[in-house]
Amino acid sequence: MLFHKRPRNVVSLLRESLSEEMLNEPLLLDHVKIEDYLMVALEIRPCSFLTIPAEFHNGDELGRKIDELCAEDLQAVLNATADKKGALIRTLKNKIRESLKKVVFASVTYEAHMNWSRKLHLQTFDVEVRPSIHELYLFRDSKAKSELRSLMRVRTATRERVRLRMDASKKRTRLAFPEESSSEYLVSVGKLLGYPSCCVERYVRERVHEGASVEARASRQVEQLRKEGEEPDVYAYFARNFFPCKPICQNAREIGRKTFGLLSSLHPKLGNLYCKCITNNVEMVEACPRLTTRHREKLTKKAQRLTRK
Ligand SMILES: [Zn+2]
Repeated sequence: MLFHKRPRNVVSLLRESLSEEMLNEPLLLDHVKIEDYLMVALEIRPCSFLTIPAEFHNGDELGRKIDELCAEDLQAVLNATADKKGALIRTLKNKIRESLKKVVFASVTYEAHMNWSRKLHLQTFDVEVRPSIHELYLFRDSKAKSELRSLMRVRTATRERVRLRMDASKKRTRLAFPEESSSEYLVSVGKLLGYPSCCVERYVRERVHEGASVEARASRQVEQLRKEGEEPDVYAYFARNFFPCKPICQNAREIGRKTFGLLSSLHPKLGNLYCKCITNNVEMVEACPRLTTRHREKLTKKAQRLTRK
């Protein structure tokens, strides 16, 4: 009779030596280790993603290398007459794609991220957002992959719709991420990333229906609370780029508390590191919309300059 050896549970692997190993890993950023890898491996979130190369510890350096490899093609686009620009932009985009493969996908940093996915029994799904920006999704369950696929179809369709509308009106969109105008996209992505439905509902209402700045609202909420002599509950800011519906959202807090408890039980240093991450998350939300805008601009501005007609 054959006995199939079941793969050892991720929690016991983390208890044995993986936690220590992860804490000592120099090639992954702290928030990536905790919020992207461990929260998914521990089944707190169904899925997470990091933007590459921006969320690599050497993201700037890798970005510069890509720029260097594409400098001539960029110059050609800039020097070209209007009738030649279209073809040269296509060449440039392909050059950026090829350079990203060489520089990012062949890097030891990327390899380290892939190795950690394997060690923690996570699957990955790569999405090109722009030729120079990718998103690396992490999840345990194969079901997430089909959800991601359909989500990316919605995203592409929304982008295309916005582009056509832009071409027709000869106006540029203010939105760096046009898919954020789709409730369907935002609700599905929120669910997949493990955000509480109350927080997703508020986000969608403000972003899509009211055209309001979620970042500004979230920042004002923290400011207001402090004025009243209270402190926001850091646990409610359980992952970066997540905006709780209110600074004391019960559902969001529970996720943060659960994460802290689980991580601390695996290794006290993981608990401490998580506290640092979520404290930083509150600071980021408070400093918004200034910081978020700047960060998003940094991520997209160059790509837009390079690849937009
Ligand atoms: Zn909420």
